[in-house]
Amino acid sequence: MMNKVAVNRIIPFSSVDGPGNRTAIFLQGCNFNCLYCHNPETINHCNHCGRCVETCPVEALKLIDGKVRWDDTLCTGCHQCLKTCRQNSSPRVKLMTVDEIIEEINKTKAFISGITVSGGESTLQIPFLTQLFKGVKEMGLTTFVDTNGSIPLWEEESFLSVVDQFMVDLKSTHQQEHLELTGLGCSTVIENIKQLANLGKLYEVRTVIVPNLLDNKRNVENTSKLIASLNPEIRYKIIKYRALGVREGLVEASSPTDEMLLELKALAEEEGCRDVVLV
Ligand code: SF4
Ligand code: SF4
Repeated sequence: MMNKVAVNRIIPFSSVDGPGNRTAIFLQGCNFNCLYCHNPETINHCNHCGRCVETCPVEALKLIDGKVRWDDTLCTGCHQCLKTCRQNSSPRVKLMTVDEIIEEINKTKAFISGITVSGGESTLQIPFLTQLFKGVKEMGLTTFVDTNGSIPLWEEESFLSVVDQFMVDLKSTHQQEHLELTGLGCSTVIENIKQLANLGKLYEVRTVIVPNLLDNKRNVENTSKLIASLNPEIRYKIIKYRALGVREGLVEASSPTDEMLLELKALAEEEGCRDVVLV
């Protein structure tokens, strides 16, 4: 089992990564390559090419023995290194043990209801997360997982036993469209949604709306039908595509209008979803 994982960042207090106030932990590395990725610097692990080192204006990056080292006490968060990197990676990643992450969570424990792990794709690190969540549950906190649903989670019994709830992205209900958008198909994602709902562990399903790229109406219609058939109370979050922070290829894609989003919300409700949220 891995003793350390690459942590892209830890947000001590988040109100947008699940219910209540939560500490959100973003792991590095993803098996999708979404055209509209909003965190492209979390996709790949750093290959220590050193390209970003020269561009840091405050010398917070150094190449030592062939590895990039990041000094967070010097870093100003200017993002210049992320703009320089051609690998969809970041030099600002920490390798952390379960105990080190627990120590961070301990600092916020009194003010949060739980933690959420996100990414990248956090479920690529299931053995590590299982250990982490055991510790977090002993602290009396809830455990949520934000996932692209690409790993057959229903087969991971010990992991499931320590996860309270999942939030699953269903980016498209059409195999080919999902493949073209992410690099992988959607059949495992849909099976995860079914299985997790049947286990009572599906908190939320999310779909990003991107005009001129996806068949948004079909995706919302199919996803709503699926949720309604499983448990109409499961939250369906319909997310407005925003160009801010996305990778270069899709910067020019337009955001959906408010009118379009309201129509999609009405469609989801007509199909039987009772908790539809626009973001
Ligand atoms: S974000 Fe930090 S490490 Fe990256 S270039 Fe800016 S100061 Fe340097
Ligand atoms: S973050 Fe990117 S540019 Fe910097 S060393 Fe790693 S791979 Fe190279």
